[in-house]
Amino acid sequence: MRKALLAAVAMLLSSPAIATTLIENARGVQVGPDGKLDRFRGLVVNDQGKVVQVLRGPAAPVMPIDRRIDAGGRTLLPGLIDAHGHVMALGFSALQLDLTGVRSLEEMQQRLKAYAAANPQARWILGRGWNQELWPDRKFPAAADIDAVVADRPVWLGRVDGHAAIANSAAMQAAGFSVNTIAPQGGRIENGLFVDAAMVLVESKIPAPTAAEQDQALAKAQELMLANGLTATADMGTSPEDWAAMNRAASGKKLNVRILSYAGGIPSMRVINGGKPSGWLHADRLNLVGVKMYADGALGSRGAVLKRPYADKPDTHGLSLISDAQLSSQADEAARTGHQLAVHAIGDGANAQVLSAYEKLRRSYPGDRRWRIEHFQIADPADIPRLAPAGIIASMQPVHQTSDRLMAEQRLGPDRLAGAYAWQSVIRSGARIAFGSDFPVESPNPFPGLAAAISRQDINGQPPGGWMPEERVSFEQALSGFTRDAAYAGFAEQKFGALEPGKWADFILVDRDVSAADPQALARTQVLETWVAGKKVWSGSASAAGERGQ
Ligand SMILES: [Zn+2]
Repeated sequence: MRKALLAAVAMLLSSPAIATTLIENARGVQVGPDGKLDRFRGLVVNDQGKVVQVLRGPAAPVMPIDRRIDAGGRTLLPGLIDAHGHVMALGFSALQLDLTGVRSLEEMQQRLKAYAAANPQARWILGRGWNQELWPDRKFPAAADIDAVVADRPVWLGRVDGHAAIANSAAMQAAGFSVNTIAPQGGRIENGLFVDAAMVLVESKIPAPTAAEQDQALAKAQELMLANGLTATADMGTSPEDWAAMNRAASGKKLNVRILSYAGGIPSMRVINGGKPSGWLHADRLNLVGVKMYADGALGSRGAVLKRPYADKPDTHGLSLISDAQLSSQADEAARTGHQLAVHAIGDGANAQVLSAYEKLRRSYPGDRRWRIEHFQIADPADIPRLAPAGIIASMQPVHQTSDRLMAEQRLGPDRLAGAYAWQSVIRSGARIAFGSDFPVESPNPFPGLAAAISRQDINGQPPGGWMPEERVSFEQALSGFTRDAAYAGFAEQKFGALEPGKWADFILVDRDVSAADPQALARTQVLETWVAGKKVWSGSASAAGERGQ
């Protein structure tokens, strides 16, 4: 008895258990269940990392407090959620050699040399972002220019637009390239420069990442997400290898972001977790909830399926990636196995196709299904009212609107823009919206997205007055799109998306009052600290901390 007591005391002394933590002196801002702003000044968090009390007004903690954290009057928000990202791609692209903005071939060579020296384990050296238009002679690089710096392993460096890449001799050798190689149709090869359709000759030879490389990419992606204030994300297109990496990280207690995983197509869906949704795993860090499918491509490359021909290329409507019959049978298989459906549709033709498939499927699968359309970018205004009655969620990316607007005007012409990036029309129709970034297509930083959502302007305030400003949303709607509604879109609203008793204490401290900031200031918000399950998992640089006094 005495021995057991001593052991218990020793255990208590060796690991002082923190029962409750009070986060006080915060300027808390979130969206309440009524859709209005909810301001609070503190949180009580239990030893599990869950919120037990939200302090508003003069209310005092209802239980004894073991630890107090002074938020220093800073703005506290629920952790933001990206409803549409690509986690591993974010990590892999961030690990590549970044050649954005290099001013000369010599500068590119220097950076390549340094990167190769810093990454001796890399079997291939991959990079991207160079633009010879910024160089004094504007001359394209050649394989020999790369060989001069790195010749011991393949090097493959993509141009800024993704439509060309330069290979060194080792990469060309790996691709089986010889003087007799003929570029495929739609491609060109010149002195190691592979253009468009020729790029696949080399890209198909890049070895699949090892488990260690996967782990490294996931860690990098997580660091970027936490630094940008994201505590949860949907992963739109998880492969079985990605799923394994996420589980390895979580098992090793290294997964700090929460991932709502959507298998990348039906073949991956059949394999991951034995072909069934996983439910929440690893203390709610990981959940395979659904499957991501594609109905069409992108607007920029005219792959998006439009109801009528492209305004700037009248001989095409775009390129459908799935027939009605295929979509119906694949969606039926996914629904039958309990997977939530998330189908990519950009053009108004593809959106109508997915809406029809969902409406039909709903007769067999009633109830709360929350089927999603990813992007819902260009809709026929007549189709928007079809979302709400079928319980369909529009998963949209505000920053795409600012990146695409000039291109969209060309592709669609002035008369077909009414249903383009039409966030407010979707909300007014009674449908749910969820916001995201589509990282790494865009930056994972959600603040430019919040700013675009309320202004229809880019980070520099363009265009003045906003593009189709009637589609702006309120700050509350925008914040909800990146918190409550993004959680709802992944069946996670009981777990996170708001700081309420019983939910995880996932929150961020930022350097300004986002509810009062103008759009350009909102877009430039800096995250100071990121907390997940009541633990600080990321904090900013000294410079960010120095702004706290402002
Ligand atoms: Zn995407």
